[in-house]
Amino acid sequence: MASDVRIDGARLMKRIFDLAKVGEIDGGGVCRLALTDEDRAGRDLVVGWMRALGLEVAVDAVGNAVGVWRGERADDVVMTGSHIDTVRTGGKYDGNLGVLAGLEVVETLRAAGVRPVRSLAVAFFTNEEGSRFAPDMMGSAVYTGVLGLDEALATKGIDGTTVRENLRRIGYEGEQAPGFVMPSRYVELHVEQGPVLEREGFVIGAVEGVQGISWTEVTLGGTSNHAGTTPMSMRCDAGYVAAEIVTFVRRLAHEIGHPQVATVGALTLRPNLVNVVPNHAVMTVDLRHTDEAVLKEAEARTFAFIEEVAAKEGASVSRRTLARFEPVAFAPEVVARVEETAKRLGHSVRRLPSGAGHDAQMFAPRCPTGMIFVPSQGGISHNVKEHTAPAEIEAGANVLLDVLHAYVRGEA
Ligand SMILES: [Zn+2]
Repeated sequence: MASDVRIDGARLMKRIFDLAKVGEIDGGGVCRLALTDEDRAGRDLVVGWMRALGLEVAVDAVGNAVGVWRGERADDVVMTGSHIDTVRTGGKYDGNLGVLAGLEVVETLRAAGVRPVRSLAVAFFTNEEGSRFAPDMMGSAVYTGVLGLDEALATKGIDGTTVRENLRRIGYEGEQAPGFVMPSRYVELHVEQGPVLEREGFVIGAVEGVQGISWTEVTLGGTSNHAGTTPMSMRCDAGYVAAEIVTFVRRLAHEIGHPQVATVGALTLRPNLVNVVPNHAVMTVDLRHTDEAVLKEAEARTFAFIEEVAAKEGASVSRRTLARFEPVAFAPEVVARVEETAKRLGHSVRRLPSGAGHDAQMFAPRCPTGMIFVPSQGGISHNVKEHTAPAEIEAGANVLLDVLHAYVRGEA
């Protein structure tokens, strides 16, 4: 049964721009790190919109907020949503689009007089980005039982304060148990955050799954000494070992080939002075692949190299896992529905994997789950220049609307 209901693109763009004013930074970007005052202000705005649309809003113990529009089958819930926290140099669309498009779908269906058979829920999950507290996708991981609540609440952030303290401080330590509304279907709209759709001229991506992610923090201990008087043969240089690791993971990614990626995104040296051999280095290694076996191999080879290069230099090593998620496959019937819907609405569509982690992947083991991507101009994200054309946002939101509309009508 096809539907001719369409979202209001201008209304959706207005909400996106209004939310982007909260924590606005130079260049048109947004900084709303998880559980900061800016995050609280963003949450307040979105919760206000949820209530204004008549959703029953509740917050769980890790700060996830869920707004429900009850259907005839009250406990059979179709969920959409994403996150509204951002990285320090975030754009307007990452996460926010999925949540606000969910609200737009509710507003549109209500205005069209739709009486839902299944309930429809719009959610935003705490700390998807992981920039302030690791791991990323924390809220959705707790919501779906992948991560323990106590472990999440005790997590210390980059400023040494815990998730629990900050939830209390901003007033988002809710009373519900995580997972209090468990969906029978989950569909999320998100910007691609990569270059594929734009480069190949597609408007919609039917996301088939998410790459596996491995984040490791490596701490190296060396000996500080005078940069002029210490012969090269007598050094224990933590900075040098770190640099070898940086170049190793890049070579490794090339050797394994696409879609393996490897990144050292954070590296700190101490004492970080021009004429002192570094005695301390802390760095992160981010490895991703769509195949778990290959990802495991990349990890094993990286960890072996780290031990080897540190031993040669006489440096100490410790490693800590910051995040580890296996690759996820979305439900074939949801992927097919997204693809078919996009075609029917007249949009070019291709299937693709997601290079980034998303809240949706936490739901994939629990219920039929899928994602819709729209293009990111220049493939740029986690950057103030992040941009998606309004027409593409409207197209993506209409695909979301149509898929959700079919589900709330009670279709399979
Ligand atoms: Zn995101």
